[in-house]
Amino acid sequence: MADPQCIFCKIVAGELPARIVDEDERTIAFMDISPATRGHALVIPRAHANDLTSVSDEDLQAVALASRRLAGRMKERLGAAGVNLINSCGSAAWQTVFHFHVHVIPRYEGDPLRLPWVPSEGDQEQIALVAQELAAE
Ligand code: AMP
Ligand code: ZN
Repeated sequence: MADPQCIFCKIVAGELPARIVDEDERTIAFMDISPATRGHALVIPRAHANDLTSVSDEDLQAVALASRRLAGRMKERLGAAGVNLINSCGSAAWQTVFHFHVHVIPRYEGDPLRLPWVPSEGDQEQIALVAQELAAE
């Protein structure tokens, strides 16, 4: 279940230090070592899964619930004006640690974070075509 090379498995096992802020049967949450904003935390399943596509349904649900719990606490206790939940799945999507995790990032008025894309109206024909490719059969 644990991957001996995985730093987040080592945190789960207590072999690497972490500032743990929430735990339950399936998940732990700890402070990100390079916070994007004050209070940036990560929620992970205790069981190793590389990414979103391989995490179990039960662990995905438990991580989502723990993320919401933490988001509420960030608003209550840190005075966050909002919260971003971010998951990167695959290196092309910026994933650097291959143990599934959700970033829970408190947001504050005037903080330095920016949307990573520039919204501009898409081509309706292309949107319709890709929707066909994606649609559930
Ligand atoms: P990602 O790039 O989405 O895979 O996120 C990995 C996150 O893990 C980054 O935000 C890192 O700052 C964070 N990180 C890496 N090592 C540690 C660690 N030992 N303790 C806490 N956070 C870590
Ligand atoms: Zn792991």
